[in-house]
Amino acid sequence: MAAIEDLSNSVRRSTAPILSITRQFYPFDTEPCTLTHFQGQDWYHGTGITPQTHPASRFPVLFSDLCSSVCGFCASPQVLVVALQTCVNPMSGDLYYDYEIVCQTCGGFTAFAYAEN
Ligand SMILES: [Zn+2]
Repeated sequence: MAAIEDLSNSVRRSTAPILSITRQFYPFDTEPCTLTHFQGQDWYHGTGITPQTHPASRFPVLFSDLCSSVCGFCASPQVLVVALQTCVNPMSGDLYYDYEIVCQTCGGFTAFAYAEN
């Protein structure tokens, strides 16, 4: 299995899918972006969709992060979102989200995890 490197508290990279959702589904996905209930959460996953057209872009903070995401290997902005989940904390109302991108330039995977504060 390909190594996963931590680039920061919120960013990881690997030459192979990183998150459980992409490890399980990405090799078999045929649609660009579908919604699946997985490990207790609703996950968007698929062969990849541009950040600008991802359905979860209705969240302004998330949309801003998605659209500014670059590859963890080559810093290319030519990326596709292959997995994404959002979760609103029922107590605080904070938005949490995780997503993973694949680079169209070098093929590397980068995963991001954020909590809105
Ligand atoms: Zn790249």
